[in-house]
Amino acid sequence: MRALYLIIIGLLLAGCDHSERGSGVEEAHQIPKSSSEENEWGKVITSKAEFYAANDVSESQLRLTEQWHEIATKAWGNYGPLEFWIVGKDERAAAELDENYCAIRKQKDPTINLRHCLNRGHNFVSYAKGGNAGLNTRRNENETWSGFIITMSAKFPGPEEEDYKSVVLHEYFHVYQHAHIHSRNKFERESLSGKNPWWGEGGAEYMAQLLYSRQPGVRPGYLREVMGRKLNSLKNLRDGENIKDIPYGPRGRIAYDLGTWFIAFIISKTSEETYRVKFFKDLNSKGFEESFLKHFGSLSENILHEFHDVFLKLTIEDKMKIIPVSLTR
Ligand SMILES: [Zn+2]
Repeated sequence: MRALYLIIIGLLLAGCDHSERGSGVEEAHQIPKSSSEENEWGKVITSKAEFYAANDVSESQLRLTEQWHEIATKAWGNYGPLEFWIVGKDERAAAELDENYCAIRKQKDPTINLRHCLNRGHNFVSYAKGGNAGLNTRRNENETWSGFIITMSAKFPGPEEEDYKSVVLHEYFHVYQHAHIHSRNKFERESLSGKNPWWGEGGAEYMAQLLYSRQPGVRPGYLREVMGRKLNSLKNLRDGENIKDIPYGPRGRIAYDLGTWFIAFIISKTSEETYRVKFFKDLNSKGFEESFLKHFGSLSENILHEFHDVFLKLTIEDKMKIIPVSLTR
């Protein structure tokens, strides 16, 4: 059951930052370059995230989501603009939330098409039915409003599950990653964030689990347990296959799991600050490969080879040596 559940999460999270699920745009228009929001992109901001919930969502789930968002911003900085939309199990309540959502979209960007917004493929009713969490990054050449929209739901994971907390952290780390890429051009953004999941998902997952493992009350062996389960994907990696070549989709899970290990691996060779702060600070101006080379001392291709040919061939015990047991209490 646990394995099945994890697979579902993996697949569902797979679309969490690369899909354009939003509302349609009627026609291209001028982007106001001098708006305050434009100047805030990529900076630590003071404006607070907005939280919206369907009317069947409990106050405690709303508080829980706010609480874990706050833990994330305290650790990594407050980036945005960010909206959280929390969906329950009631499809009618989700449909009402969709209407509120499209009204807010229209208010923030008057050029959007309301009908397209309401008819969008992955709306809140689909979250009420299928559960899951996701991030929609809105920053492109067609829409005036740039920002992040995180959707949380009632299942996979639900608020009563431990995973709900690390999933909030995971989605927020995507906000952190994307906030460090300024371009509105789809291809430029993709060249800096990566098209396949190994880098972005690996980073979001490792940073989320690492931060979660340090919270008061979390058992000391938590991170090693989680990382141990991710090693199950190793048996699905084909001979000579590189995680960077695995796309989102049916085998994306392998890249999620081993990508998480890859981030742990490069942090073990450098430091958490090198990955989380220094690499991202230079990413926008230097590009992915140059920032990677500067901070990790070698081209990503070389470190990926070392990861596959040396690190992944170690025993489980030796691999686990790079995973901290518990750092703060
Ligand atoms: Zn993700």
